[in-house]
Amino acid sequence: MYIDNQLLANMVDEARPISSEGRLVDYIPALKKENKDNLAVSVCFLNGEFFYAGDYLEKFTLQSISKVITLALVLMDNGEEEVFSKVGMEPTGDPFNSIVKLETNRVSKPLNPMINAGALAVTDMIKGATNEEKWERLLAFVNVLTGEEEVTYNKEVADSEFNTAFLNRSLGYFMKQHGIIKGDVEHLIYLYTKQCALEMNCQDLAKIGAVFANDGMDPVTGRQLITRDVARICKTFMVTCGMYNSSGEFAIKVGIPAKSGVSGGIMGSVPRKCGIGIFGPSLDETGNSIAGLRLLELMGNEYKWSIF
Ligand code: GLN
Repeated sequence: MYIDNQLLANMVDEARPISSEGRLVDYIPALKKENKDNLAVSVCFLNGEFFYAGDYLEKFTLQSISKVITLALVLMDNGEEEVFSKVGMEPTGDPFNSIVKLETNRVSKPLNPMINAGALAVTDMIKGATNEEKWERLLAFVNVLTGEEEVTYNKEVADSEFNTAFLNRSLGYFMKQHGIIKGDVEHLIYLYTKQCALEMNCQDLAKIGAVFANDGMDPVTGRQLITRDVARICKTFMVTCGMYNSSGEFAIKVGIPAKSGVSGGIMGSVPRKCGIGIFGPSLDETGNSIAGLRLLELMGNEYKWSIF
């Protein structure tokens, strides 16, 4: 397989025009300011080599991509049994912020940790006596994964979402009523919106994708940052639920574990090959980066990345 920055730049140029067919996320006010035509990518191979194209050092917030990271931390802290007593393992065909299945399912537990309800239940399980301690724990984990000490969060985006997260509050209070959420819902929404506002660039994101691709081991330092089992579970969720309600189509067209966020970020993880970080804020109907998807399709075909 041959990859270089020029080839990546060509693919970015080919994918970028479709951005005009999408739109920026509209329900988090601070995210409406992004440049719709942006598209950048970084790929981190397991020998630690990076490739990139576009403005790959521009920072963006993780939004739903953070759900995979929190899940890894919470699974390692609490064990599978406890985590899966609160959240299921099944994909939904519904949008990521849907509330409908919480009521229609007999045991009112969210179907999986990649939808908002499931992610809220997972964030509620982060260990720590106070919200601040939980946040510090999550942040320390993110910094270990990227290998960059200074990753932090975008306060403007976090505040903007916190002030408007009425749907997530509804999910939280619904689950509180049914015993899925243990902590205070306002504290949880505060922590969750900070988590979603974790901010980094494509290169950092590609590095995290590479840790998952490498069965939890840091490809740069050789340290085991996530247990093999937890890395496997996270990648499986990325395949079955990572791209919201277009995960099935994505599995057919690209076929790699990936997780997207409404900021336009996508983290990809090609088992035993590489991690990918993409940023393209123009979104399709389901909330995935429209040019990011096109780019992943081009790259996946070129490099035969599908795991299927
Ligand atoms: N912070 C966003 C929310 O909870 C994340 C959603 C997403 O990226 N799909 O609505």
